[in-house]
Amino acid sequence: MLAERTLIGQTVNRVDQKVTLYGWVNSIRDHGKLVFLDLRDRSGLIQVVGNKELLGKVKNGFVLAIEGKVKSRPQRLVNDKIATGGIELLVEKVTVLAKSQEPPLDVSGLGKKINDDLRLRYRYLDLRRPRLRKNLEFRHRLMQAVRQSLSARGFWEIDTPNLSKSTPEGARDFLVPSRLHQGKFYALPQSPQQYKQLLMVAGVEKYFQIATCFRDEDLRADRGLEFKQIDIEMSFVTRDEILALVEEFVVEVVETVLGRKISSKPFPKIAYQEAKKRYKTDKPDLRKNPDDPGELAFAWIVDFPLFEKTTTREINPMHHPFTSPNPDDLPKLAIDPLAVRSWQYDLVLNGQEIAGGSVRITDPKVQKQIFKILGHKDREIQERFGHLLEAFSYGVPPHGGIAFGFDRLAAILLGEDSIREVIAFPVNASGRTSVMEAPSRVDQGQLKELGLKTVDEDPDQTA
Ligand code: ASP
Repeated sequence: MLAERTLIGQTVNRVDQKVTLYGWVNSIRDHGKLVFLDLRDRSGLIQVVGNKELLGKVKNGFVLAIEGKVKSRPQRLVNDKIATGGIELLVEKVTVLAKSQEPPLDVSGLGKKINDDLRLRYRYLDLRRPRLRKNLEFRHRLMQAVRQSLSARGFWEIDTPNLSKSTPEGARDFLVPSRLHQGKFYALPQSPQQYKQLLMVAGVEKYFQIATCFRDEDLRADRGLEFKQIDIEMSFVTRDEILALVEEFVVEVVETVLGRKISSKPFPKIAYQEAKKRYKTDKPDLRKNPDDPGELAFAWIVDFPLFEKTTTREINPMHHPFTSPNPDDLPKLAIDPLAVRSWQYDLVLNGQEIAGGSVRITDPKVQKQIFKILGHKDREIQERFGHLLEAFSYGVPPHGGIAFGFDRLAAILLGEDSIREVIAFPVNASGRTSVMEAPSRVDQGQLKELGLKTVDEDPDQTA
């Protein structure tokens, strides 16, 4: 049986007591007769001192159980940089619970200079780094705070399918071939948009989900192939009621996880055209001093155009095709659609978009008109969205919602530049997964079952 464990973080309260610690060797310094090592568990680090007989065979990365006495360090040896810098453990007994090869990367520092691919190849080691452990713990608290705050406001957490039909959010779909229906495909959700609207028809009224969304896009530092959204939808509310509720929610969550009040309340509301004119962007950074870590400047951007012209398309939804036109502009829809304003809103934090949403179209006639303006033919509308239009013929309440980019919110609050620093197992810059290195070939038998053939034959398999 394992001896009763003291966590390293608790050792500061155990001076002159005997304890048993469990953890990993974080670094080791051999001073001849005496060996010094830093032992790490998830609560912290402590310096351990012992003689060669006890610690001589121990190496970096080993998992140990160490019995010993916690001692105060002489004043001149106190290290202010770590929480246990005033104490050390004098070893009496060491048990090696697991050996380790020499780790291929140093996990004692911030790790910012280590090649990304190496960090992701050995992500389970990289995550031992205190900076990333802190990020994981923060992410956990953020998720709990979100759940708590929304539940307390009467929202129900409801999960929706991942194998489903394409919902347009402006990106390419990930497709999953069906074995039972050969030649047919599921699409992984770009967002749960249509399901959450169906839940409003179902009478749920207040829904949320921390949903995984999949978008097959070219990668950037703030994008992965999959990401988490705090997805929210509610019924019988106006745009301004949605904004007020979401603002209360986000202030509560941020203040809870940061443990301090934020000052930029209430959030300013800026019309899209005004933001473009004044700040030359629809994601203005309103911080007074952007070099000040910890300053948070939120802003709502409202009154977006319903459509935009892009480099590849004459007309495209600015948000997604379920966004309601501003009723004042409805007459313009048939004549000058690019001039129509919508009921879309974005939430911006320190110059980055952290959430976007809208009041939705609930009139099937208007919804059809929008699909047509976007160039969909009747048959295609029926095939792709017939289910939603049909649902809307059975009493659809007025509704709207929003979705937050969870990873991005976590990264900004932690002061991290990339969302990869707040995700346990992110993909690398070319879309390969950490540690497991997907995508990978599958065997011919699996392809055959799916009724699929790849164009370029795998040389390993045809040889
Ligand atoms: N589905 C939208 C998105 O992923 C958010 C929303 O409109 O609620 O951006």
